[in-house]
Amino acid sequence: MMNRMLSQCALGLVNSWAGSGLLSSIESTDRRDNILRVITYHRVDLPCEHPHLYPGVHSATPEQFATQLDQLQACCHIVSLDDVLDALEGRRRLPPKSVLITFDDAYQNFEAAWHHLKSRNLPVVLFVPTSFPDHPERTFWWDRVHWAIQSTPQTQITLDGQTLSLDGLNQKNQAVRQIAAKVKELPHREAMPWIDAICEELQEDVRPNRVLTWQRLRELSEEGVAMGAHTHTHPLMNQITLEEAYDEAVRSREKLQKHLGQEIRTFCYPAGGVSDEVAAMLKEIGYAAAFTTQRGVNDIDACDAMRLHRINVGARTSTNVMRMQFLSYARGLKATRQPA
Ligand SMILES: [Zn+2]
Repeated sequence: MMNRMLSQCALGLVNSWAGSGLLSSIESTDRRDNILRVITYHRVDLPCEHPHLYPGVHSATPEQFATQLDQLQACCHIVSLDDVLDALEGRRRLPPKSVLITFDDAYQNFEAAWHHLKSRNLPVVLFVPTSFPDHPERTFWWDRVHWAIQSTPQTQITLDGQTLSLDGLNQKNQAVRQIAAKVKELPHREAMPWIDAICEELQEDVRPNRVLTWQRLRELSEEGVAMGAHTHTHPLMNQITLEEAYDEAVRSREKLQKHLGQEIRTFCYPAGGVSDEVAAMLKEIGYAAAFTTQRGVNDIDACDAMRLHRINVGARTSTNVMRMQFLSYARGLKATRQPA
């Protein structure tokens, strides 16, 4: 209770006018070069227009995103994926306050974000799970579970012998969170049939996925959006066998290269699922960099390129909170390069 009150006070201070001034003062002393901040977005849209999509991966409204870009441009140096690869491979150093903007999952809502990025001439990276474009019947499991629970006529569900009430929004949201947490613990080959069974029991109102088509991805690539692999079927890479992980890493890269006609050198772990074996395998097969969901900033001179840290932007993340996490004194900076 006390911890929550303290963190809310700290959040209030960071978001206040005084907090902005304090942050600017601290930022002015943070002049180290070759420090990379990577921010993660999923969906930029108006959630009320997409009630069937899981709100847990909503990042910002288009208006909030535009404001965030204005503020980032004022305090940071937004770099491209090529800049980052050049720095990781020693061809250049990143300027102080470098930030890379990334989007996971290739939702169609990326268009709203791209509108604002393109008009400001800002670089961005899109990580694509390659079995989803042009397959609207393949809906992401988290969107399926969310909508099955929100739209079900049933008022309860039994999970592992425990009966959960679905009577009201809070109970429904709690059930979704409980299912999502369990999916991340189960082997992928058990998790997906379990999700199918839950959705069937809830009389799922099936909705098509909201993923960009290959044609649109090709056009976005030609317009300047950098692309990276995000597996083929979006399993957690540490919840499948190493052979399956190898197949996901190779197939997703081949699909992207075939459809986009360009070399793909970067990878993003779904839900941050990574193990030492998977990271080593990606390096072995030629990926130059891989991104996790572990929070922190990256010291290019000392980081592990196969486990780059990121800073997630959620619906309630203010730009000041984002800036605070950008400070090179932030957690994660001491991560050291893995032995070769
Ligand atoms: Zn993802």
